[in-house]
Amino acid sequence: MKASENILDKYKIPISGLSTGVHEYMFLLDDDMFSYFKHPDVEKGSVTAKVILEKRPTVIELDITMNGSLTVQCDRCLETFQYPIESEEKIVYTMGKLEGYDDEEIVIISKEQSFIDLTNDLYEIAVTQIPISKIHPNDAKGKPACNPEMLKILEQYIITGESTPTQKLSDIL
Ligand SMILES: [Zn+2]
Repeated sequence: MKASENILDKYKIPISGLSTGVHEYMFLLDDDMFSYFKHPDVEKGSVTAKVILEKRPTVIELDITMNGSLTVQCDRCLETFQYPIESEEKIVYTMGKLEGYDDEEIVIISKEQSFIDLTNDLYEIAVTQIPISKIHPNDAKGKPACNPEMLKILEQYIITGESTPTQKLSDIL
């Protein structure tokens, strides 16, 4: 077995022998996962995903609660920082058509399917928490937590009129 297959194997839940009722799982989305998918903005991460699975005869409902942080690069000062994420999602798996679930993501599965592979879902939920503009949050004093040296360079550009306060260092360099 290749290493990459090993990395993703841990995000699978066996369902064929699973009894009806509620089951709980914990997954860790780690550096291995984020480096595997090679997301352009997310280098690393440490996110826990608690999955509450309810199995009924033809429906499997998943409530996924995510908490953790992703390592991203600040658009303003280009240093990396930990971006905290928090998310709750529901995924419904059904064997056949299902009424009454308009808002939820519905995945149709066959009776023969022996496991649910959450790799892509967990990854997608985590990385879609990243905003389009990734900027260091302010510190306790309300000052930007950006690299001060980089901020100085940025300010010089603003003063000389080559940039506007809304522009980012990544646009200039
Ligand atoms: Zn910054």
